[in-house]
Order: sequence, then C-alpha cells, then structure tokens
Amino acid sequence: MPYAEQKITSLHRWSQNTFTFKTTRPDGFDFKNGEFVMVGLRPEGKLIPRAYSIVSTNRDNHLEFLSIQVPDGPLTSHLAKVDKGNSIWINTKTTGSLTLEHILPGRHLYMLATGTGLAPFISLIRAGEVFKSFERVILVHTTRIEQGLAYRDELTSRSNDQFHYVPTVTREPFETTDRGADLFRNGELSTNHAANKNWFFEKLNLHIDGLHTSRFAFGDYDGDGRIDSLQSRFAKHENGEDTLSEIFFRRNTTKAGAPQFDSPVRIFEAPRGWHINSITMIDLDDDAQQEVVCGAFEEKPQDPDKRWIVASEIWLLDRD
Ligand SMILES: Cc1cc2nc3c(=O)[nH]c(=O)nc-3n(C[C@H](O)[C@H](O)[C@H](O)COP(=O)(O)OP(=O)(O)OC[C@H]3O[C@@H](n4cnc5c(N)ncnc54)[C@H](O)[C@@H]3O)c2cc1C
Repeated sequence: MPYAEQKITSLHRWSQNTFTFKTTRPDGFDFKNGEFVMVGLRPEGKLIPRAYSIVSTNRDNHLEFLSIQVPDGPLTSHLAKVDKGNSIWINTKTTGSLTLEHILPGRHLYMLATGTGLAPFISLIRAGEVFKSFERVILVHTTRIEQGLAYRDELTSRSNDQFHYVPTVTREPFETTDRGADLFRNGELSTNHAANKNWFFEKLNLHIDGLHTSRFAFGDYDGDGRIDSLQSRFAKHENGEDTLSEIFFRRNTTKAGAPQFDSPVRIFEAPRGWHINSITMIDLDDDAQQEVVCGAFEEKPQDPDKRWIVASEIWLLDRD
C-alpha cells in the first residue's frame, strides 16, 4: 500500500494526552467524511503506522487528525514531539464504516464518542450532509477531564435546534458526569435532546372572568427574565351595539413548576369600532425591552353595496 510523505502544518494541544495535528493533503487523496487512514512516522527509518480517523472534511485542502498520546506508545510517543514542517507518512487508501452511506436516514442520529473517538463525528458535522438526512443530531463526547473535551468551543458554537452537543466528564466535577452510553440507556438523551424539551400540559387559568379571550401573546414585557402574558378580548359596549377591543396584561410570578400569572390589568382600550385582531410582544426599537404591537381594524358602515369599509392599522403600545 503506498504511503505519501507529507508535512505537518500545525499542532494544537488540548490536554496533556490529546492533541490535534494538521498535515498537507496528498495529491489525488480522496475519502468519505468519517473514514480513517493509516498514518505513520519513521523515527528510526522503519515506518510505524497506525489507524487515524480524519477530522477534516473532504472539501478541505489539508488533513486534520485528533490524537491520543499513549505513554511509551510506539507511534504517539514520537508523534507528540513532532514540529511544524516535519514529515509524516499517510496511506493513500482510506476506509471505514462511520460514513453517511452506512446509515439509513431517520429522525434522530445519536453520536456517542469517548476521547479521540470524537474525530470522525467532527468530520461529519463539519461537512453538514448529515443534517439533510436527520432532523436532529445529538453528539455526546465523554472524557475523563474537562480539558480533554477537544473541539468544545467549535461544537458549542455549532449547536442549534438541529444539532445538540452534550459534553460529559467522568473524573472531575462537571455539569454532566455520566458516560454517553449511560445517558443513552437511561433515556436522558431522548428526553432532554431528542424530544421537544419539557412539554407540560397544565391549565394556566388565563381566562378573564365571564368573557371570551380573542388573542394571546407571551413574552418578557418587563424584562425580569420571566414570561408575561397579554390577552385581548372583544367586549360589548354598554349600549349593546358596539364592541371594544381591550388588552390585558398579566405579570408572571413563576414559582417552581408551571407559571402562575398575576391577575389581569387592563392596559389598553381601543376606540369605539376598532377591533384588535393580532397582538404580540416584540423588541421593536431594539432597547432590550419588549413592546406590545397590535394589529387592529375599524369597521365603518359606509358603502351601501359592500356595507363595510375596513381600515387596518398597526399600533405600538409602549410602557409609558
Ligand atoms: C479504526 C481506528 C481508528 C482510530 N482512530 C484514531 C484517532 O482518530 N485518534 C487516535 O488517537 N487514535 C486512533 N486510533 C488508535 C491508533 O491507531 C493508535 O492506537 C494510537 O494512535 C496509539 O498508537 P501507539 O503506537 O502510540 O500505541 P498503540 O500500541 O497503538 O496503543 C497502545 C495502547 O494504547 C491504548 N490506545 C490506543 N489508542 C487509543 C486512543 N485513541 N484512545 C484511548 N486509548 C488508546 C490501547 O490500550 C492500546 O492498546 C484508531 C484505531 C482504529 C482501529
């Protein structure tokens, strides 16, 4: 099997026994994201090759690897001492089954890695195709010490609704100290990451006495970090003819568990004939405080054929 002599182009140490190294990429070197390749050094002339998963993607011009440093390990005791510009030998044949073509598309893909086992998953996540085949990808990386959490910043910044990164550390105090496989077995991964988180169904008692509510909106209106509620309602005017639209505000007084809302306070009453048909809380003027924005329409009996002419407006209700 042919080995191509390449150069080390950069090194980064994550912890005492893990480091990343990048190399030049041999001409014509092709691979599938998630595959591994034999990589070696010749400390005394004779090649010492070992299997290495490729961290970089097939799009990159360089190759990147994440390595353990085994004390007295035949290869890694030398590899840990290499410098930029040193030679390294990379086999031109790649292989491996941690590639997308070996898994059927589905809803959730769990990637459970310990230590340097993270390497092939980084390649798949960076390449991005995995996100076309799965609604959600959950990657657990377990290491003994926090420093061993290689690529933590990158993975944290890539996290979003579709990609959940769950770092766990087993031998130091950390937010999660379980192994990934245990989290998978005991159902925590599916509860906290695959399922839509923490749905609860509880009656919140948001009705306004005796009246039907027309619109709801929820947001942190007063900026105290807790959710407030807005409700608009149609109300009969005293003369029985007209309807008025009103907006009520309730401050949230979250206790443990479900939110409890304060009693409603009427904060707005639309002019006669105007109806509020949408209501939302949004930080429209970007001052980090939410305003109330409502859409409203006015019905005017003018045109005898059409009977009503409707005027639509958007109103902004600010705190003061
Ligand atoms: C398919 C495949 C892919 C691999 N991908 C990687 C990779 O991306 N990064 C990487 O560092 N290693 C990887 N390895 C292991 C790698 O091939 C070498 O074993 C490792 O680099 C140590 O080499 P060595 O010659 O210093 O020690 P070796 O004589 O090869 O190993 C000595 C002992 O160290 C332990 N050991 C070896 N590698 C690891 C490791 N990665 N994590 C924890 N304990 C280990 C084992 O107990 C082993 O018996 C992979 C192995 C396989 C089979």
